[in-house]
Amino acid sequence: MTAPLRAGEPIIVNVALGERSYDIAIGRGLLGSLGTRIAALRPGAKVAIVSDENVARRHLPAAEAALNAARLESSRIIVPEGEASKSMAVFEDVCERLIAQRIERNDLIVALGGGVIGDLTGFAASAVRRGLDFVQVPTTLLAQVDSSVGGKTGINSRQGKNLIGAFHQPVLVIADTALLDTLPPRVFRAGYAEVAKFGLLGDAAFFSWLEANWQDMFSGAAAREHAIAVCCRGKAGIVARDERETGERALLNLGHTFGHAFEAAAGYSDRLMHGEAVALGISLAFEFSARKGLIAMADADRVKRHLAAVGLPTHVGDLAGTVPDADHLMDLIAQDKKVRRGKLTFILVRGVGAAFVERDVDPAEVRVFLAEKIGKK
Ligand code: NAD
Repeated sequence: MTAPLRAGEPIIVNVALGERSYDIAIGRGLLGSLGTRIAALRPGAKVAIVSDENVARRHLPAAEAALNAARLESSRIIVPEGEASKSMAVFEDVCERLIAQRIERNDLIVALGGGVIGDLTGFAASAVRRGLDFVQVPTTLLAQVDSSVGGKTGINSRQGKNLIGAFHQPVLVIADTALLDTLPPRVFRAGYAEVAKFGLLGDAAFFSWLEANWQDMFSGAAAREHAIAVCCRGKAGIVARDERETGERALLNLGHTFGHAFEAAAGYSDRLMHGEAVALGISLAFEFSARKGLIAMADADRVKRHLAAVGLPTHVGDLAGTVPDADHLMDLIAQDKKVRRGKLTFILVRGVGAAFVERDVDPAEVRVFLAEKIGKK
């Protein structure tokens, strides 16, 4: 883990992908530099900003003013907020509007929003005119530490999450940490699950730092920039080594196999946000690892204690509404992750900060584990 960074300095993290390399700029107030940064990258470009209604109301005027101050022409495409916008209908609408706004190969698209806007806009950018460049301006904690970096873009299919998409890297990411000040606390907390994930999968010292400093991070002090930078460095390294997820990148799915099943069972609704599902999924992945004798139960308890202190769900009993039964969850897990030769792939742990890919998990063992957890509700 790196030393805490000084307040006030933008932090630049490079994602090293040869000719597709790009920078992530992290700092308070960076939205004001959107215009100059884009003008430096693509002088004279037309810019289409894609955002959702919530984010546009709060932050679009500042983004437009920054572009205007740098004499860049801009247009806007606003979609409804929420996961439902990662749909074929909204994707088609965004593509049609980009074409109608005459956004061409030398122009740029800006995704101003959370993970939903980043995933949707990035996918539209990958498809319109066979590929346009785009800039990520993530406005949620989840998007600043995870979804805006690495080039996974896409929408949901009727049959599951993120099943239609493309790898399409942004040309720049601007993470203005002040934008997180307007996030509802629940959305900030949900994003924190992905922050903790970076410590838990490969950086034990960072997890210990989070245990001691998470409150400062929530309150917006320099600890916030530091934590976001550590996550971005971690993700940039993983993506540079394994862009297409043929190996190590799968570790970023820690907590996601269990989490996606609960998220799907809740109908991708307000009942359970993505990050909340990840927190529950991480807790279950640690407990399942303990059950398999890979770690001591005390390690799983430590992780759950921290996530619970932050206010995230760690037990099936923390979920609102009806809890799905184990068979339903197993169906959802099988849909999410291909069953290969009768076995499932899970990200398990040999300790805090030591995740690994286990391709040989017996579905029957997972089913018994889930049935027990649900029984303990
Ligand atoms: P989101 O984009 O829906 O944002 C959550 C809510 O916060 C929305 O209501 C939004 O309008 C609001 N919001 C956003 N920024 C705000 C701000 N600054 N102030 C006030 N309100 C604001 O959800 P999310 O949690 O950011 O992202 C979840 C999505 O990210 C999921 O679809 C998930 O699949 C995806 N994801 C993608 C990757 C990837 O690598 N591409 C990684 C992780 C998650």
